[in-house]
Amino acid sequence: MITLPDTSLGTAIFRLTPARCNIYVVSRQGRVILVDTGMHIDRGRVESALSRKGIIPEAIVLTHTHFDHAGNAAWLAREYGSEVIVNTAESEFLARGDTPIPSGTVSFTKGLVGIGRKITPVFKYEPCSADHIFDETFDLSRYGLNAFVMHTPGHCAGESAVIIDGEVAIVGDSLINIPTVKIFPPFADDVKELLRSWEKLLATRCHTFLPGHGNPISREQITAEYRKRMAAI
Ligand SMILES: [Zn+2]
Repeated sequence: MITLPDTSLGTAIFRLTPARCNIYVVSRQGRVILVDTGMHIDRGRVESALSRKGIIPEAIVLTHTHFDHAGNAAWLAREYGSEVIVNTAESEFLARGDTPIPSGTVSFTKGLVGIGRKITPVFKYEPCSADHIFDETFDLSRYGLNAFVMHTPGHCAGESAVIIDGEVAIVGDSLINIPTVKIFPPFADDVKELLRSWEKLLATRCHTFLPGHGNPISREQITAEYRKRMAAI
């Protein structure tokens, strides 16, 4: 269970339930949004966690539309009336329920992508139309939050992060922190752009970064990895 201390403005941030990607709940003064939705096969556990916690999400931010993040967006929008927010570059993929697989950044994932692109129907998901699309930023104050969504391309063209109270960033797959991957994502369409997005994330002054897969990451960890990666370019 990933639960952070409330921010200084009293925003609660926690992981809804274990799933194929981290689904985060962001809540302040009784108003709630979700960031990412998991895969279709996670639906049962998402539904029971929402009902157990009495959560009706007003909105869903998709950090991007890979199948493991966007798989329940259409269902959540239908069942709970949640508004769906996504970057412009992802909105057509979402509307088709079919997002291209990103490129591998290491030889193992490069091989996997070759296989994945041949079995692409496996990665399709229920199509969903977005209620709000944005190019650079999207303000979340309409949901009672001191937060915004920020475009952070690199993992894929429309990748985005949610910046909360200037303290915590939910970053999708711009960062990964699982036992075998720390912290550079094994899949990215554009590595240089990804590193520029890391600069943008560090510039927010946030102290905690929540990845789409695995545990929270500190700014010190990102700074160290950023220096290493830049030295290798
Ligand atoms: Zn992804």
